[in-house]
Formats: sequence, C-alpha cells, structure tokens
Amino acid sequence: MSGIFSKILRGEIPSHKIAEDDNYFAFLDINPLAKGHTLVIPRKEIDYIFDLEDSLLAGMLVFSKRIATAIEKVVPCKRIGIAVLGLEVPHAHIHLIPINRIDDINFARPKLQLTNEEMADIATKIRQELK
Ligand code: 5GP
Repeated sequence: MSGIFSKILRGEIPSHKIAEDDNYFAFLDINPLAKGHTLVIPRKEIDYIFDLEDSLLAGMLVFSKRIATAIEKVVPCKRIGIAVLGLEVPHAHIHLIPINRIDDINFARPKLQLTNEEMADIATKIRQELK
C-alpha cells in the first residue's frame, strides 16, 4: 500500500514543496516545531532510514545540506538541527529544524500553528534561496 509521503510525492496530497531532484524531495512539515521545519525524503518508499542503500543514504544528507543552508538564510537561528525519528510515518525522512536551544528540537513540545499562507510564504522564501 502507498504511504502518505508517496502520495505527497505524486501530488495526490498537497504539500509546500521546497526542492526535488531525481532521488529526493523536500517539503515543509505540516506540524512544524519551528518556522521552516522541513522534511527530506527519498523518492523510494523505504521505511527505515538505515535500510537505504549506502549511496542513497549518503546523497540524502548532501541534498539536505543544500536545503539547510537555504532555510538558515530565511529563518534566523543558531543552526539547523537534524533529527530522524520515523515513529509516525513509515517512509524514511530527515527533519531539518531551525534551532537556538535544545528545547527547540523537543518533539514532545506543542507544534506551531501556522496558516496555509504563512507556510506558503516560508516555502517561497526558502525556494528563492535555492536558486
Ligand atoms: P516521524 O515519523 O518522524 O515521527 O514524524 C512524521 C512527521 O511527518 C511529523 O513531524 C508530521 O508532522 C509530519 N507529517 C505527517 N503527515 C504529514 C503530511 O501529510 N504532510 C506533511 N507536510 N507532513 C506530515
């Protein structure tokens, strides 16, 4: 059965796209811990990130690096924290989260409530930095 992130990849579920290439896709997390909270996924639907073949796993981090650099230019922060949980969605993904302190990457914290317009605006600004 096709998972939710594969449906996002195929455009069957809308998302605020940040970037894509032949192997990876990046989009804003729908329940962000911070403005600019982005998910990077491989197009291949594999649940556990450490089941990805080596080259795909390595490339995912390199792809994430470019996105993180763009997020940092849009969202003031000390750095972009990365996290891999996968407890909710069984399609490997890396969380890229602007952080200033350790609590900013605490997934038990309440998520931000952003409007669709705010999300669209952030995504547009990050995409512009990727050009
Ligand atoms: P995890 O599997 O890493 O524990 O959490 C999955 C993440 O995916 C969560 O942060 C959640 O907000 C995000 N997420 C779940 N469903 C959707 C969706 O349909 N669209 C987007 N953009 N993010 C989602």
